Amino acid sequence: MTKRRKKSKVVYVKLGRQRAWGQATIGEGLIEIDPRLGAKRQLEVLCHEQVHLTFPEMSEAQVDRAGKDLAAVLWDQNYRRVLLNPNSNPPKIS
Ligand SMILES: [Zn+2]
Repeated sequence: MTKRRKKSKVVYVKLGRQRAWGQATIGEGLIEIDPRLGAKRQLEVLCHEQVHLTFPEMSEAQVDRAGKDLAAVLWDQNYRRVLLNPNSNPPKIS
């Protein structure tokens, strides 16, 4: 049987007190991102924190490189966050 990946829960919260722009809670699969960041930095923090969840044993320096490279290639290929109206049907993307 293939092990299905646990879906990460991503929440946007101000993280000033933690002195961080993002935070990953490994046991819970939780990613927190500071909403005050710009779009590109949010993508970078999202990639960074997901790499922490995927590879909990990875060093901070390696996670940092992976997060930056993933975010850069996605951004360069014009991947962006689309905010959907919760009351509207999701658009069909083929
Ligand atoms: Zn980190």
